[in-house]
Amino acid sequence: MKINFTVGPAALPRIAIERAREDLVDFEGTGISVVEQSHRGAAYERVQAEAIALLRGLLAVPDTHDILLLSGGARTQFAMLPLNLLTPGTFASYAITGYWARSAYDEAAFLGDVRIAADTREPDGGYRRVPGPGELAIDRDAVYLHICSNNTIYGTQWRELPDTGAVPLVADMTSDLLSRPIDVARFGMIYAAAQKNLGPAGVVAVIIRKDLIERSRQDIPKVWRYAIHSQHKSLYYTPTMFAVATMRHVLEHAVAIGGVSAIEATNREKARRLYAALDARPELYRVPAAEDSRSHTIVTFFLPDADGDARFLAEASRRGMVGLKGHRTVGGIRAGIYNWVSLDDVDALVELIAGFRG
Ligand code: PMP
Repeated sequence: MKINFTVGPAALPRIAIERAREDLVDFEGTGISVVEQSHRGAAYERVQAEAIALLRGLLAVPDTHDILLLSGGARTQFAMLPLNLLTPGTFASYAITGYWARSAYDEAAFLGDVRIAADTREPDGGYRRVPGPGELAIDRDAVYLHICSNNTIYGTQWRELPDTGAVPLVADMTSDLLSRPIDVARFGMIYAAAQKNLGPAGVVAVIIRKDLIERSRQDIPKVWRYAIHSQHKSLYYTPTMFAVATMRHVLEHAVAIGGVSAIEATNREKARRLYAALDARPELYRVPAAEDSRSHTIVTFFLPDADGDARFLAEASRRGMVGLKGHRTVGGIRAGIYNWVSLDDVDALVELIAGFRG
């Protein structure tokens, strides 16, 4: 078996993969595969409802918020969010802290009036940090303020989530949902494509305040309306059944190992060990993320030159580690250390970092 540090679609718990294999052959004792079922059948409906209930329990989602499981990924939400909430005559604020935050902004700008609440882009075009508390311009009239809680390409993270007062906070939590406890009541909406911590690609979790659904636009096509998906309990269109059923197994496992607090404790320790190993050898490794913005799920670093990066990657590959190549736009090394990457897996990488000759 390989040690999988890919940043997404990322490693899933072994037990969830094994149960998914069973589902592919005989789903819930129906004698047919999960991909051959009616999504209106009792077996699938129960499993989808369970997946939603597990997510609600794990994140302590209050009754004020609905949970939708929609098809597509996070990018669908870059458009669906402003389509629904950026009504004519209003504007939304966006904090730009990386490629994905920028992409969300661009998509909204295509549809309506958007303003920049902060932009931490460096002169070289990269992003190393999230804004400090005083740096975020919170306009009280904005219909929402959008952040990307974890910047998958740059390895930066909002360690403290901003207080936006009465302005609904909307977060793309694709690469850190379920990695740490959050107070969902503070958010107007959270969305996360599944393929990091939740399950296979193809499904996106949307946790949205019910009053925002009520206020959302009704003059857009039905398929894009949060209200329609809410009314139909995420069964308006045929869901990505295999992805949702597998998500249920992942979430069951998350509960079995102690829930989000236990998961966070391990994630913290994984990040601590990796950053400590990198910081111990400053002559060999450079971590671009500013100290107070360092992500606990994505660790990016560079050797002194591209040849060094390549040699490091070759040695990692020899040791059975995959998925460590940095994003094509920035290079270097990038380790996805999401929930299902174990402490032992991280220790293998720590050992390589500590012993690598350069
Ligand atoms: N937002 C973030 C933070 C991401 O990491 C990604 C994918 N890596 C996306 C959005 C885009 O997700 P999708 O490909 O599911 O649209």
